[in-house]
Amino acid sequence: MAIDVEGRGTAVSYQIICDCSVFGAGRIERLYNLWLDGAISRRQARTCVFGTRPEVRVLSVQPPIVTDFAKPNTFLESAMKAKAILPFAFCLLSAGDASAWNLRGHMEIAAIAWDQLTPRAKARVSQLLRLNPDYDHWVEGFSSREKSKAAFTRAAGWADDIKKKDDYTDDGEKPSGPDSARNIGYRDKLMHRYWHYKDIPFSPDGTQTHDGPEPNAETQIITFRNALASEASDDVRSYDLVWLLHLVGDVHQPLHATSRFTQDLPDGDRGGNDVKLCEKPCRNELHAFWDNLFGTGTSTRAAINAARKVDDAPAGSAANEDVHAWIVESFELAKSDVYKPPIGVGGGPFTITDTYKRKAKAVANERAAIAGARLAKLLNNALQ
Ligand SMILES: [Zn+2]
Repeated sequence: MAIDVEGRGTAVSYQIICDCSVFGAGRIERLYNLWLDGAISRRQARTCVFGTRPEVRVLSVQPPIVTDFAKPNTFLESAMKAKAILPFAFCLLSAGDASAWNLRGHMEIAAIAWDQLTPRAKARVSQLLRLNPDYDHWVEGFSSREKSKAAFTRAAGWADDIKKKDDYTDDGEKPSGPDSARNIGYRDKLMHRYWHYKDIPFSPDGTQTHDGPEPNAETQIITFRNALASEASDDVRSYDLVWLLHLVGDVHQPLHATSRFTQDLPDGDRGGNDVKLCEKPCRNELHAFWDNLFGTGTSTRAAINAARKVDDAPAGSAANEDVHAWIVESFELAKSDVYKPPIGVGGGPFTITDTYKRKAKAVANERAAIAGARLAKLLNNALQ
């Protein structure tokens, strides 16, 4: 695919010339960034990626890109075999859903944790994960020797998967009533979006702040950890395990630990979700940028391989079992490493620089290593 991109700055200054006969991952990423920047429309981007020429074989996978949310793994992995265009396609689908580290990030953290589990914990988690309705999907394509790690790795995305399931009810961004803190196993069909973060407020310009509500990620990690170590039913403990696999990752994302209050955004910026990185109608924002730092691939196997390359967490950090301290640490990182130039005060738009991106990736990798080590320790202790 030959793409010439001219101009940079405003949406009208771009000129995209597509000759979609040769594919290259770098070009696709460039297009993706242009789309994120709001410089080109989704349709323009798709035309450039999929092309109109008969030799572009991947045209045949176009319809599932729009409709097949239910089995992203199967769809993406089969299409990846066609050529390296699907990460981009998935980006287009997922970038607006800013909920946590994305699936790739969560899977890497879980894969790191798996390698640090005791044999006893591995056996027990493998037993519990089989009770999840998605288990067969998680292990599809893996040999019997690989299945346990694959299921553990992929299960870390389940708490986000339920946001797209028809039989789950969206009970909103804010908790309300006793059901918001219940722990009743898989018969709970609420999405519990407010379990994914804890917003510690701050303001750089003296705007009045207010604390985020409970339950939140901190209360739920503690609840699920205690239940996992208790005599609760296996159904409840399986449910708690998959939530823990996800939430321990979430609270190591700096923007899952804070809301920044400014005169522009007096009700808080919802963990950077309201901080724009480009002019309207662009949808790219600070939270999604941080969520996507591990890349946007959805292959379980690729995440397992990538996790092997992540450096070990420092021993002192790995040993810390205090959930509140984890979140305060993320909060401090948000102030020092997320809300820093070129991210100014207010809702933006701000333009991310390469230097900012490089540092952010380093922070994300370190948080993944620490999250994985802490997750493993938590599970080893709960399941001894
Ligand atoms: Zn999450």
